[in-house]
Amino acid sequence: MKKHNFYAGPSILSEYTIKNTAAAVENFAGTGLSILEVSHRSKEFVAVSDEARALIKELLDVPAGYEVLFLGGGASLQFCMVPFNLLNKKASYLDTGTWASNAIKEAKFFGNVEVVASSKDSNYSFIPKNFTVSPDSDYFHFTTNNTIFGTEMRYDPEVGCPLVADMSSDIFSRPIDVSKYDVIYAGAQKNLAPAGVTLAIVREGALGNVERPIPTMLDYRTHIKKESMFNTPPVLPIFAALQTLRWYKELGGVAALEKINLEKAAILYDEIDRNKLFKGTAAVEDRSIMNVCFVMNEEYQELEAEFNSFASAAGMVGIKGHRSVGGFRASIYNAMPKSSVEALVATMKEFEKLH
Ligand code: PMP
Repeated sequence: MKKHNFYAGPSILSEYTIKNTAAAVENFAGTGLSILEVSHRSKEFVAVSDEARALIKELLDVPAGYEVLFLGGGASLQFCMVPFNLLNKKASYLDTGTWASNAIKEAKFFGNVEVVASSKDSNYSFIPKNFTVSPDSDYFHFTTNNTIFGTEMRYDPEVGCPLVADMSSDIFSRPIDVSKYDVIYAGAQKNLAPAGVTLAIVREGALGNVERPIPTMLDYRTHIKKESMFNTPPVLPIFAALQTLRWYKELGGVAALEKINLEKAAILYDEIDRNKLFKGTAAVEDRSIMNVCFVMNEEYQELEAEFNSFASAAGMVGIKGHRSVGGFRASIYNAMPKSSVEALVATMKEFEKLH
């Protein structure tokens, strides 16, 4: 039976990415060697890394003065690297979920952190609006998409200081204005590649302004200077990332992806709103087009486990909600075909007929 992969991350990758990566595990770029065993300094792999970085610049329209880096440590290490490299006196943070609050915790090791607003009291079900950011802040940090709570900021906020964003779960899902950001970072394991590499887009002019010494591995300048090869980069995830990026380009780039993503999300939210058994958990105006969170309606609570089994039997994988929200979460990243979203909707309709 066909499986529909709704995991939140690591998560679905395109068939194009998986097929080409599998082929390169056998024979990489005609070298007669596996991608698993080639030197990161071989000319064939350097070409992969160069093309991947160039494609990221092209797809996101990255202006001059920025560098694209492949780093280790996940998005979680960026929670620390960002303030290590950028926080002088004060930084402002928006608290919209677990990952945002983890970033805040790390920043506090480095200086004064202003939390401009938080939706924690309502279990992060909405994005706070109308907050003000101190104009003397070194940067304003926010999470564009809250993977756990299914809320998203699909815009580049105008706050009066440079932006820093964790885009782990929605990068490449829509166009962004990179020129407003000092740093954009994203773990690869949603919209790019298997886990193991972290993408960072860094404005070079934002670096070198802090007094504190920065350990070599944690200094963005090290990785810029060495073109992400200061230490051994994760060769396989970068190879897979390149396949995904080529596929994105072929599909028409991030504007085309956004159009498809909006359509897929609307199909699922329309069903959640229509079906008597379910309701969405995120404020309607802040609904994520990547992670769709929903629960059973009050009077049907006792059907939760039954729907889980019913959906698994229909081939749905990974729709159990995160423990902090409960219910269900369907992650419908770029690689998720519309037909899988339609299959989930059909399953919800069938389940409704039974009750
Ligand atoms: N930020 C967001 C928005 C996430 O969804 C996650 C989890 N994948 C993280 C940060 C943490 O990422 P990592 O596991 O790569 O450290």
